[in-house]
Amino acid sequence: MSGQVVRKVVVAGGGTAGWMAAAALSKQLGPLLDITLVESDDIGTVGVGESTIPTARTFNALLGIDEAQFMRETQSTFKLGISFENWGQIGDRYIHSFGQVGKSTWMGGFHHFWLQARAQGFGGDLGDYCFELKAAEAEKFFTDNEATTNYAYHLDATLYGRFLRKMSEGRGVRRLEGKIASVSQRADNGFIEALVLESGEVIEGDLFIDCTGFRGLLIEQTLKAGWDDWSPWLPTNSALAVQTTSTGPAVPYTRAIAHRAGWRWKIPLQHRVGNGLVYCSDYMSDDEARAQLLAEIEGEPLIEPRVIRYGAGRRRKTWSKNCVALGLASGFVEPLESTSIHMIMIGVTRLMQLFPFGGVTNALVERYNRLAEDELEKIRDFIILHYKATERTDSPFWDYCRTMEIPDSLAQRIALFRESAQVYQTPGELFQVDSWLQVLLGQKVEPSSHHMMGHLVPPEQLKRALGDLKGSIERAVREMPSHQAFIDSYCPSARPPSPN
Ligand code: FAD
Repeated sequence: MSGQVVRKVVVAGGGTAGWMAAAALSKQLGPLLDITLVESDDIGTVGVGESTIPTARTFNALLGIDEAQFMRETQSTFKLGISFENWGQIGDRYIHSFGQVGKSTWMGGFHHFWLQARAQGFGGDLGDYCFELKAAEAEKFFTDNEATTNYAYHLDATLYGRFLRKMSEGRGVRRLEGKIASVSQRADNGFIEALVLESGEVIEGDLFIDCTGFRGLLIEQTLKAGWDDWSPWLPTNSALAVQTTSTGPAVPYTRAIAHRAGWRWKIPLQHRVGNGLVYCSDYMSDDEARAQLLAEIEGEPLIEPRVIRYGAGRRRKTWSKNCVALGLASGFVEPLESTSIHMIMIGVTRLMQLFPFGGVTNALVERYNRLAEDELEKIRDFIILHYKATERTDSPFWDYCRTMEIPDSLAQRIALFRESAQVYQTPGELFQVDSWLQVLLGQKVEPSSHHMMGHLVPPEQLKRALGDLKGSIERAVREMPSHQAFIDSYCPSARPPSPN
C-alpha cells in the first residue's frame, strides 16, 4: 500500500481518545516517533465518559501511572460493578460485578452447582458467591499490593484528559491548538498528507490518528470508511448529561436505572456526581427527558443539562489508508457497560502491537480491522442482551426492545443458556462467562436444565461447600473499610469542589 516509513504521527483531537493515544504512544514508542496532537478549544470534547472497566488499570500500568496520584488528580472513586435497576421488571435490581462467581471446574461453571442447589431448595442468590458483588452491595472497598479484587474507576473525564496531557507533553508530545479546516490527500494513493488548520498552518504526517469524536473528520469525512448502523438493535440515540453535588458517601458502583424510554446513569466521583439520561428520541422528547432527569437527580445541578446525540454502530474500516480512528470517531455502542474507554485502550494497544514501522500494508490494516470488528461485535451483543431480555411491558420502547429481532450470534447464546445453562467466552472477547451469567440471570433468562455435575456431590456436602464459600466472602467483606473511608485515607483529592 505504502512503503513509506512511519515516524511522524499526528493525533487529530484531544478528547479522552486523543490524549490516551498520545500518552500511550509517547510512553511506549516515544524514541521512535515524533508525535503531534491538534485540538480545538472552541470545539471542545464530548465531556462524558466517566465510568470504566478493570482494563483501565492495565492501561494505567502500561503508562506507569501511580494509582493514588491518578485518583487524586482525577477525583476518582473505585468501581466494583454496575447496579442495574428496573431492567427485568420495574423494581428489580441486580449487580453486574467485575468479580468471579464461585469456583468453577474444568467440566463446567460454578453456576451449575448453584442451579443444582437451587433446585433442591438451598443455595441463596448466585451473587452470594461473588466477593466483588457483596463488597459493592455493602459499599465497602479495600486494595493493596496483595489484594486480588477486580475493580475499575469512576473518573472526571476533563481532569483525566488534563492528566494524560501533562504526562504526554512531559514525554515530548507537541500540542497545537487550532481548528482543522481541511485535510489534504496524496494524489497518487489518497493517503492523508497533512492537516491544514484555520490559521493556515500545515501539519504533515506519516500516520494520522483520528480522535475527532463523532464527526470522524479524517476517517469518514475524508476517507469515507463507511458505517455499519446498529441502531435497530440499540435504539437509544440521545443523552442528557448533568453534574450535581454529592449528597452522601460515594458508592463503589455505577447505577444504571432503566426508565420508560431508556435509562439513567449515576456515577459518583469525589467532588461531584455525574448523571445522565439516555433515551430514544422516537419515544421521548428532549423536554420530557430534561424534566425527568431534573426530577430524579439528587443534589444540586452544577451545569445546565446538555443534549448529546449519537448513533450506535461502527466504522466499516477503523483503519483506512494511513489513518486509524480511535474513540467516538471509530464507532459507538452506548455507554451501558462503560466499554468505550476500554475500546480506545484496546485500539491504541493493538496499534502499538501492529505498528506500521516499515509502511502501511494491506495485511496489517486487515488484521487490525478484523480484530477490532470481532471485539466490538461481541460487546454489541452483550449490550443488546440487556434490552432484549426484559419483561417490561409498560411502554412502547420496552415493547420494541422485548420483541425486536437480534443478531443470530446473540440469539444462539440466549438459546444455549435457556436450554442448558451453558455460557461461554470466545477468544479475544471482552466479557467473561461471569459477566454473561450475571446479566442473563439478573434479567431473568432462566435455564430449563443444567449440567448434572452437581448431582455427583451429595446434597449435604454441596450445602456445606456453598455455605463455607458464602461465609468466607461475608467475613472478608465485614473486615473491609467503607468505600468512602478507604478513599479518604488512600487518595483524597486535594482540590476544592469544582463543577469541572
Ligand atoms: P471527543 O471527546 O468528542 O473529542 C474530540 C476531540 O476532537 C476534541 O478535542 C475536539 O476539540 C477535537 N476536534 C474535533 N474536530 C476538530 C477540528 N475540526 N479541529 C481540531 N480539533 C477538532 N465511555 C466510557 O468508557 N464510559 C462511560 O461511562 C461513557 N459514557 C458515555 C456517555 C455518553 C452519553 C456518551 C456519548 C459517551 C460515553 N462514553 C463513555 C464514551 C466516551 O465519552 C468516549 O469514548 C470518550 O470520551 C472519547 O471521546 P473522543 O475523544 O473520541 O471524542
